Amino acid sequence: MTKIYPQGDVLVHALRGVDLALFPGELVVMLGASGSGKSTLLNILGGLDTATSGQVRYQGTDLTGASDRALTRYRRDYVGFVFQFYNLIPSLTARENVMAVTEIAREPMAPEAALDLVGLAARMDHFPAQLSGGEQQRVAIARAISKRPNVLLCDEPTGALDSATGILVLEALARANRETGTTTVIITHNASIAQMADRVITLSDGLISGERRNPVRQDPVTLSW
Ligand code: ADP
Ligand code: MG
Repeated sequence: MTKIYPQGDVLVHALRGVDLALFPGELVVMLGASGSGKSTLLNILGGLDTATSGQVRYQGTDLTGASDRALTRYRRDYVGFVFQFYNLIPSLTARENVMAVTEIAREPMAPEAALDLVGLAARMDHFPAQLSGGEQQRVAIARAISKRPNVLLCDEPTGALDSATGILVLEALARANRETGTTTVIITHNASIAQMADRVITLSDGLISGERRNPVRQDPVTLSW
């Protein structure tokens, strides 16, 4: 699969021929320098963007030629996103932020169960401004997993956090992956997640330059809540 962005007179080859299959329930960590194509790949996997050539199939459906409507339906029914910035609604509590999704999802978790899974059972009635950055990101994770997506895509979820807080967020993602079975892809610079992953994929200059599978995935041992 390739992705080319026309930019003025030049063509930016963001992805030059990436072949990748994601397996049900696995936790994949994606590493790579800035500009290597990580976000482009994640956005295409999530139906936020489409490939220029090649195929991207989700359970037999090709997303590459899909209409905007079909992509919207794919995202709504199957995909959860977590980004660097939490995008919580400031006037709603943690629970209400999650409910904004569970009220419209087809088979959601209870908002309380989603928040419990990320260690925020005691903070459900706090507003975003009353939560730390790491806690806000965990609310965003609870919101993303509460609709039980088949695929959870996380683009630098720890990018705005110090490394100790970032590890808590990654542990929350690993735990959510283990307990819900949601196939999870995490882009991060935090190498400490690598041993929590089933597979580590490295992108360089629009190509997969490395792939390592952990024979025995180590789940986090220090759950800090
Ligand atoms: P990463 O997430 O690994 O930092 P990106 O996927 O964001 O990398 O970008 C890969 C390449 O594609 C970069 O050269 C970037 O400048 C380019 N690119 C990404 N998005 C666009 C866009 N919308 N228009 C033009 N070029 C883009
Ligand atoms: Mg990026």
